[in-house]
Amino acid sequence: MEFKPLSGRLSPRFAAVKTFFRLPHVPIEENYDVGIFGIPSDLGVSYRPGARFAPTQVREFSSLGRGFHWSRGVNIFEKLKAADIGDCPVTPLSIDQTMKQIEDYVSQLLKLKKKFLAVGGDHSNTLPILRALKKHYGQPLAFIHFDAHLDTYPAAWGCEYHHGAFARHAVEEGLVDPTQMLQIGLRGPLAAPEDLDFAKKHKITAITVDDVRAGHLNDFVKKLPVFKSTPTYISYDIDCLDPAYAPGTGTPVPGGLTTYETQKILQNLKIPNLVGADLVEICPAYDPSNITALAGVDFMFEALSLMALN
Ligand code: MN
Ligand code: MN
Repeated sequence: MEFKPLSGRLSPRFAAVKTFFRLPHVPIEENYDVGIFGIPSDLGVSYRPGARFAPTQVREFSSLGRGFHWSRGVNIFEKLKAADIGDCPVTPLSIDQTMKQIEDYVSQLLKLKKKFLAVGGDHSNTLPILRALKKHYGQPLAFIHFDAHLDTYPAAWGCEYHHGAFARHAVEEGLVDPTQMLQIGLRGPLAAPEDLDFAKKHKITAITVDDVRAGHLNDFVKKLPVFKSTPTYISYDIDCLDPAYAPGTGTPVPGGLTTYETQKILQNLKIPNLVGADLVEICPAYDPSNITALAGVDFMFEALSLMALN
């Protein structure tokens, strides 16, 4: 089986059935290295819903994606056998059932020794992914979390599991190692100064937009922590970007990163053992020009490049 994107010359990029990066759509057991799949669920959102529609929109706009990384000098689709493995099963009326389905699905992938890139969905989907990874690797993961928000908030309306609480559960359940955890893109306003207590208590490295902008970007990226061989996971909440670059999201926060800044950060991260990544919180209903989806596709390209270089 050839795991190559359908050529834009054979079939124009606006044509053909939409899959991620125009890659073949194959069953989960096929002989690929990296499975790209959707998680069409937004049962954890606290504000504007609609991220369940993102996998479909991202598939469409990933048609514009190409394989050769200019600055890395690598063609990801020659280095990696990547495939669209469809969508993870979900239950639109139950977040509990959906979380179980996501954990089971990712566990199945890991048993097959696959790496993966998941396209949500809202950020509550990341918790069951991390549960499956921790079980599989038998150790807490190193974790890079792009977000405007801390996502370490308490229960909301009496419900533990929502998109603003996944990172707290991930630390409390021992799924990630907080001393090897990086949050990037943080900014206010916060509900209260105590919002920062969790990150401080657990010694999480919290990088605000001010930190990124304090000096020259080239100097900032040189100071990024170096990740060792610990299995490492990246979760990219699209609202790390400024709403000017990513308006299509449920809880936008002004004063965010530019697409270029996140590209440079991703290109300078040293991650020898990236085992998976996700892209979450794209909300197509608020993305009339589709730039949010395109920014998401760009993250996917960088994440696949990191995997290709491993
Ligand atoms: Mn988030
Ligand atoms: Mn967020």
